[in-house]
Amino acid sequence: MPNANIIVLTAPSGAGKTTIAHRVMDAMPEMQFSVSATTRPPRDDETDGEDYHFLSVDEFEQRIDNGDLLEYEEVYPDRLYGTLRSEVETKSDAGPVLLDIDVEGALNVKKIYGDDALVLFIAPPSKEALRRRLQKRGTEDPEALADRLGRADRELDRADDFDAVVVNDDLDPAVEETLTRIRQFLQS
Ligand code: 5GP
Repeated sequence: MPNANIIVLTAPSGAGKTTIAHRVMDAMPEMQFSVSATTRPPRDDETDGEDYHFLSVDEFEQRIDNGDLLEYEEVYPDRLYGTLRSEVETKSDAGPVLLDIDVEGALNVKKIYGDDALVLFIAPPSKEALRRRLQKRGTEDPEALADRLGRADRELDRADDFDAVVVNDDLDPAVEETLTRIRQFLQS
């Protein structure tokens, strides 16, 4: 693997990591965003190629067969998500690369990149806070919401496996802490 600076933000769904990822991108113009591939349908405010590369299951499986994915997971039933090698390898020439991916994926990236990757776990202040946030977001039907909460429970138990944990109680301080940790890592 090339000597890349990889920053991975991971968290249970609803912990606010995508909001933090957007804020990091705004604050650090040199940061490159790894646009993941997924088979889930786009939400109303999402753009193909910017938020995700939205693929059919067949297209996704073809990319797996071609060896195009650095890691991938069936994050929810029938919903595949993965990091494209080309995103990380091409973009790392231009600057550090930010990945916003699930916990298993983050651990796999850490295995591949070791000290060249900083893996930050964004934790909600409590499980109850997470439930409220997901309900308020209203993007999931009850079954999908239950799936996400079940998965979140298991992911919260793994918080110790990461380079650092940032508790997202209040957004601004959480963004500041994330930025501080990223800058320290890039200078080290
Ligand atoms: P959402 O459907 O809310 O956009 O994302 C669901 C979960 O999939 C989130 O935890 C998100 O970070 C994760 N995810 C997004 N892209 C990837 C990826 O490339 N690989 C993995 N392993 N997880 C991803």
